[in-house]
Amino acid sequence: MTSRPFLAMLFLAATQVAAQQTTSRPMRPEDTEVWQPVPKIVTPGKADGDAPSDAVVLFSGANLDEWVSARDGSPARWSVANGVITVNKSAGDIRTRRSFHDFQLHIEWRVPAGITGSSQERGNSGVFLAYDPPRASYELQIVDSYQNPTYVNGQAGSVYKENPPLVNAMRPPGEWQTYDVVWTAPVFNDDGSVKSPAYVTAFHNGVLVQNHFALTGITKNTGIPEYHKHGPAPIMLQAHGDPSAPISFRNIWIREIP
Ligand code: MG
Repeated sequence: MTSRPFLAMLFLAATQVAAQQTTSRPMRPEDTEVWQPVPKIVTPGKADGDAPSDAVVLFSGANLDEWVSARDGSPARWSVANGVITVNKSAGDIRTRRSFHDFQLHIEWRVPAGITGSSQERGNSGVFLAYDPPRASYELQIVDSYQNPTYVNGQAGSVYKENPPLVNAMRPPGEWQTYDVVWTAPVFNDDGSVKSPAYVTAFHNGVLVQNHFALTGITKNTGIPEYHKHGPAPIMLQAHGDPSAPISFRNIWIREIP
């Protein structure tokens, strides 16, 4: 559960930001960075994430047939070798061919051993749980959060710029990490207003990091999130432009929730 002091602090920060917005200057990315309190560190146990029988397998180790370039829908050009996808930063983000509504997602990712950089410039990527910009774009953050402080609503397991993880369950660089996610898509009224917000529950290495968190809108690096009516949407993996070495993915599967 999100602590009351944290919510109070976030509300205060949002109020201050809103006041600044109306009185003086345009917003900056750092206006919405929250650095305290820092989620406590939890050491995860060993996990097993084999796809169940009713899953749609999005990557089993062989090819990127289920993925396309997010930019133009052309075939995804990230590298596949030894059963692992590695981000090709110059090729840009990739998304699923299929669109989804409510689902359970399993995805494994690895920050390379020996990664350098700090804060957001250290293994930055992300899983966008519904991606159809500019209307849908909701990021579960990926970044190296093992002994790498950054603003806590931007560390691994955060809903980027909306909610920090409950704890930091990050394994060291070079080890595989898992995300298991339950996504409930937002529902909109005919006039475009929100009937019910998006909800996310997420486990990082088997440890609960988001507990049915109600999103306040789409992910924004600058500014306050807001909703725009949308329908089923692809899942996107981010090719972040940070200068650190690219991360990898494997064993990606999804179960649609009827
Ligand atoms: Mg990211």
